[in-house]
Amino acid sequence: MTRPIAIHWFRQDLRIADNPALTAAADAGRVLPVFILDDVNAGDCRPGAASRWWLHHSLTQLDNSLRGKLACFAGDAKDILPALVREHDVKLVCWNRCYEPWRIERDREIKSALRDLGVEVQSFNGSLLWEPWEPLKADGTPYKVFTPFYKRGCLAAPPPREPIGEPAHLEVTRIEHDGLDALGLIPQIRWDKKMAPYWEIGEAGAHARLEDFLTQGIQRYKEGRDLPAKRYVSRLSPHLHFGEISPNQVWYAAKDGRSGTNLDHFLSELGWREFSYSQLYHFPELPWKNWQQKFDDFPWRKDAAALKRWQQGKTGYPIVDAGMRELWETGYMHNRVRMIVGSFLVKNLLLHWRDGERWFRDCLVDFDLASNSASWQWVAGCGADAAPYFRVFNPITQGEKFDKAGEYTRHWVPELEALPDKYLFKPWEAPPLVMQEAGIELGRDYPEPIVDVKASRQNALDAFASIKR
Ligand code: FAD
Repeated sequence: MTRPIAIHWFRQDLRIADNPALTAAADAGRVLPVFILDDVNAGDCRPGAASRWWLHHSLTQLDNSLRGKLACFAGDAKDILPALVREHDVKLVCWNRCYEPWRIERDREIKSALRDLGVEVQSFNGSLLWEPWEPLKADGTPYKVFTPFYKRGCLAAPPPREPIGEPAHLEVTRIEHDGLDALGLIPQIRWDKKMAPYWEIGEAGAHARLEDFLTQGIQRYKEGRDLPAKRYVSRLSPHLHFGEISPNQVWYAAKDGRSGTNLDHFLSELGWREFSYSQLYHFPELPWKNWQQKFDDFPWRKDAAALKRWQQGKTGYPIVDAGMRELWETGYMHNRVRMIVGSFLVKNLLLHWRDGERWFRDCLVDFDLASNSASWQWVAGCGADAAPYFRVFNPITQGEKFDKAGEYTRHWVPELEALPDKYLFKPWEAPPLVMQEAGIELGRDYPEPIVDVKASRQNALDAFASIKR
């Protein structure tokens, strides 16, 4: 007797192992694996170009794991899923929950439409350690500060679910579909070719990355995570975003036999991811509105030319330019440098954090609506538990402190390669002879600084004082 069909709707869970919804579908019948590129409902929350590139390759890997049976569609999931159910005599639809506001609303509608068709729908938590609605203060309201959120809301709660491995019996069924190439995720101008060598996309690649981090990075994580030239961070963020690996797998693999401050610090960064999701869940306007309303009156500037120089890594501040060029070339930027370039945009250039948010959205392979919005609001000082606005990162001292030997900066800004360390982060202070020996003429080989760091810092503080009043 043929078993009934259960759809597993893949979304941000592009993996076979530790996939609770896929396992439930596999236990119930023959699995029809489906992916839908739903730009219709996503609207402004559509993934940017770098994310789409990653998605294409991640789906390719997933399709290989499913022996070429992943059914890919583009369009409105509210139409596509009910149509599939009707055409293929489906008894059950399973998915892992997503938490972006537009997805919550859409999924609620789909659930009710499918139930009206007499189909069972089951949803699971496959991408967070704790549900975003679980960590709450004693008065039932969400936490606004990270430390109590993490310590009282998460660590004091029951521990995260342990990973469950691959489904014991996965019988997959194939149907006619649009095909992966029809999703049009690969850019027409092939700028993506430069990014490919930096990543091993897909479930196997995610586990290899984790293994590498656990043998080479976590031991130095607490101090090392601030050094962009070193490989002490995990670079798991795009794999986690697309669910090629679950946070539960990372959490328990990191803990396995380990303890100490490096481990605690790494786990707390996964906690920041949870905190971002909690913020987005409780404040769905997070990507658009200042969490702190007083910032609604902030005198942001509009300056397309300055924004472009920041985007292109031509501000004349070497650590800022290094970060922006790393982003452009690889689709990733080290966290310390994200904070530096973010602060520079918002405070020294006085441009709106949403300008930065949008650029990161398009360029990051790990773009994540929750983490990106929460982090930009943190950088700008207008978020929950944000860096105080008056704390302005100095791009010169940040470079000298966190890229002391200049390896990172020289790698991404090679025109400054021959400049001595003393002037690397402030080339305009180098005497003419030093510049001549390094073969650099400011304005010709490398830009003059776009703003004066001291004066622009004062402008930022004045602007902040104006909203405080
Ligand atoms: P690790 O240091 O190895 O940390 C492990 C994991 O913890 C990360 O993969 C990530 O999932 C999570 N994590 C670490 N730091 C943070 C954090 N501050 N907030 C939320 N989660 C965190 N992260 C994204 O995943 N997507 C984004 O779109 C994003 N945008 C950002 C924008 C700005 C302006 C800033 C300052 C930070 C942003 N971050 C974002 C957070 C952070 O920079 C990245 O998660 C981190 O650099 C990824 O590198 P990693 O995997 O090596 O991190």
